[in-house]
Amino acid sequence: MTSFSGFDLEPRVLSAVADAGYKTPTPIQAETIPHALKGRDVLGIAQTGTGKTASFALPIISALINGRARARMPRSLILCPTRELAAQVADTLDIYARYADHLSRALLIGGVRFEGQDQLIDKGVDILIATPGRLLDHFERGRLLLTGVQIMVVDEADRMLDMGFIPDIEKIFRLTPFTRQTLFFSATMAPEIERVTDEFLQNPARIEVAPRATTSENTAQSVCTFKAGRKTRAAKEKRIVLRNLIAGQGEGLTNGIVFCNRKSDVDIVAKSLKVHGFDAKPIHGDLDQSHRTRVLDEFRQGQVKLLVASDVAARGLDIPNVSHIFNYDVPNNVENYVHRIGRTGRAGRAGSAFTICLSPADDAAFAAVEELINLRISRIELPDTAKEEISRLDDSRKGTKGDRKTKPRSARTKPETPKSKDRDTGSRPPRSQTRQASRKPAPDPGERATVLGMGQHMPEFMKKPFGPNRASVQSGQEP
Ligand code: AMP
Repeated sequence: MTSFSGFDLEPRVLSAVADAGYKTPTPIQAETIPHALKGRDVLGIAQTGTGKTASFALPIISALINGRARARMPRSLILCPTRELAAQVADTLDIYARYADHLSRALLIGGVRFEGQDQLIDKGVDILIATPGRLLDHFERGRLLLTGVQIMVVDEADRMLDMGFIPDIEKIFRLTPFTRQTLFFSATMAPEIERVTDEFLQNPARIEVAPRATTSENTAQSVCTFKAGRKTRAAKEKRIVLRNLIAGQGEGLTNGIVFCNRKSDVDIVAKSLKVHGFDAKPIHGDLDQSHRTRVLDEFRQGQVKLLVASDVAARGLDIPNVSHIFNYDVPNNVENYVHRIGRTGRAGRAGSAFTICLSPADDAAFAAVEELINLRISRIELPDTAKEEISRLDDSRKGTKGDRKTKPRSARTKPETPKSKDRDTGSRPPRSQTRQASRKPAPDPGERATVLGMGQHMPEFMKKPFGPNRASVQSGQEP
């Protein structure tokens, strides 16, 4: 298929695709759209960035464009693992549905009050985009019926599995009619996912567009292995290594994402980078939705150069043109490695990905990643600037006056313990707090981060108009 006009898509959908500037269908679109338009189930094995959103959105809009939803009975359902992905799918859908004036869509994601949502569902929704948890909340409150669902999409099922949503997905499948059409997407096919697709998909067209666990050839990957001087100072030294790796990229670094395995580290690393003059902001699941959306927009628009992220927060986000990825931690599994570095080296552009290995456990985890991607990643030396900075920490401990003026106070005082306050942030607590901290260490800034409700805040994507009969409804599962 060389053009969209060769598909049996509704003319208004074709016009919207033309407006979006798409000339040629991507491989997942070329293979999925014809099957989806014929009403067949599809099992798509594809990653983010392959154009999979259009591969399910265009047939859904085409199929539903002329009908009308009944109150409380959505005609189609798109399930996404995270709020961000759901919001992104909703935004993309708006583009493809721009000429589908009577089609209504609603977004049901977490972190917002129920108020107003039931009312919108009552009006009738053609396309419901939701995270699994709150969709079930609505169902259990008796405000939603899933017996009118004609087409159901499960997006990023591998992520659903990571986040423990598979039982919810199964429950939702059972609440929808047996006759529904299912379009199911996953980057990988874990046995648990295979089991679900075997049970709930009927003779699906199996479409695989990217081989499992491959990484882009356009991305230069390297790993920096070092051994911390002392265990108690390992985290501080790791941040020094990260800063120097970033600084060493010079002008070549237009923007980058630093990945951490833990939310607490996301906050610490972002603060540390900021204190040392880098333009960095954190994003993870404990930050409230409007905040996350704002930070992402700033990053997309180039107002923030470095995003410090957890896997959950970053998965599935369409962030084009990232020049650098820094794995502050070796990812917990190979899929996360592939996802992380898949954010650079896109669309033929060159990218760079660095991983920091600190302990023998990191080395072993990284060796497992290399084995699975079937690639030996080049080792790089610790940057000289990092070596110098680390050795200055040693000097200061020995009482060397050296460069006291330029050194942060933390480097001259007590060694860092894993639970101590992150002195890299440069914040100096009042003496009373210091005394208290010496008795009972303050928790990590990341662990202290409050899970904020949306309160009165209305995220930007909720405010967007969506045509006369459309509504934005939100609620759902916290990633
Ligand atoms: P997705 O994998 O659906 O998140 O899509 C990744 C990116 O590719 C998005 O920015 C889409 O707007 C873009 N895209 C999707 N399909 C096409 C196409 N056929 N031609 C050009 N760009 C596309």
